[in-house]
Amino acid sequence: MLTIKENIPLSDFTTLRLGGPARFFAEIENKNDLEKALQFAKGEKMNWFILSGGSNLLVSDQGFDGLVIKINNRETAVRGTKIIVGAGLLLSEVVLLAKENNLSGLEWAAGIPGTVGGAIFGNAGAYGGSISDSVEKVEILDFSKEKFFWKNCSLNDCQFAYRASVFKQKKKWIIFSAVFSLTSGRIEEINGKMKKIIQERFKKLPQKLSAGSFFKNPTVENPEILAEFEKDQGMKIRDGKIPAGWLIDQLDLRGKKIGGAMVSNEHANFIINTGGAKAEEVIILASLIKQKVRNHFGVQLEEEVQFLGF
Ligand SMILES: Cc1cc2nc3c(=O)[nH]c(=O)nc-3n(C[C@H](O)[C@H](O)[C@H](O)COP(=O)(O)OP(=O)(O)OC[C@H]3O[C@@H](n4cnc5c(N)ncnc54)[C@H](O)[C@@H]3O)c2cc1C
Repeated sequence: MLTIKENIPLSDFTTLRLGGPARFFAEIENKNDLEKALQFAKGEKMNWFILSGGSNLLVSDQGFDGLVIKINNRETAVRGTKIIVGAGLLLSEVVLLAKENNLSGLEWAAGIPGTVGGAIFGNAGAYGGSISDSVEKVEILDFSKEKFFWKNCSLNDCQFAYRASVFKQKKKWIIFSAVFSLTSGRIEEINGKMKKIIQERFKKLPQKLSAGSFFKNPTVENPEILAEFEKDQGMKIRDGKIPAGWLIDQLDLRGKKIGGAMVSNEHANFIINTGGAKAEEVIILASLIKQKVRNHFGVQLEEEVQFLGF
């Protein structure tokens, strides 16, 4: 049965552990509950927002004056080389499910927090892989006309690109479940790849409160910056994309602090909550980073993190 709660602190549901409350909050496990929650928001003429793992989200200090719907449908099925999962399943659980069934293709995702729905929304990726490599279709609820229209999106319909998808544009489409198409593999090899990736991540990424990479890696056209990066890193750029963290690093911003928000000392593209940070402080720090990168390199950084309540 659907329960709609009131005044729920969203800091408990985000990995940055900050932000104000949701006026209304509902967790949904099935289609019926999702429809009821949307019906409630429609009846009250209020805005609604889909929250999943909260690992790519910055919530304002004022919170959200509407209904936050947390997606918790977690069903799973394995059919041959296909895995069918609810959008609320953790990405890490899908990675394990694939491994246990000798299915390869999702090893790159080992260690990424958040859910299937969130990963599809932002086309999550790491270590040369991305969710778009394995998605066969996505089941969604289209509520753009304030009516319940359930449909399947093919891989093509999803319009995946670097940290982008059709779901980022269609604000009223809710990802409910997905089918992943994987390949048969050997559990030892799959496990080996996953272990290596987790070790790498552990070495490179801060184990602190964050929302992951704050900015997307920008495409840089200036040949001087590209050459400087290639010289510094001893590697060739293939797609013109330079890690945002490298640009931020050149400006010596690691450790820069505004209140409780700080540029991580381990990874310059991570803004961390050192304890008691306000969303406003994160925003001021992010603006400062953007301004410095723009002034120095002429490059406009764009946030990868999503915003709620601003
Ligand atoms: C330590 C750390 C490391 C990270 N490393 C990586 C990495 O290597 N690669 C990477 O790509 N990301 C990384 N991230 C970011 C984050 O984990 C991913 O973006 C993740 O896929 C977000 O999923 P989520 O369920 O937490 O989404 P949320 O943060 O809950 O939501 C993010 C956005 O997706 C929308 N959304 C979520 N679920 C749905 C749904 N079912 N239907 C419609 N819209 C939905 C929300 O409305 C919101 O706009 C990292 C984050 C952290 C904290």
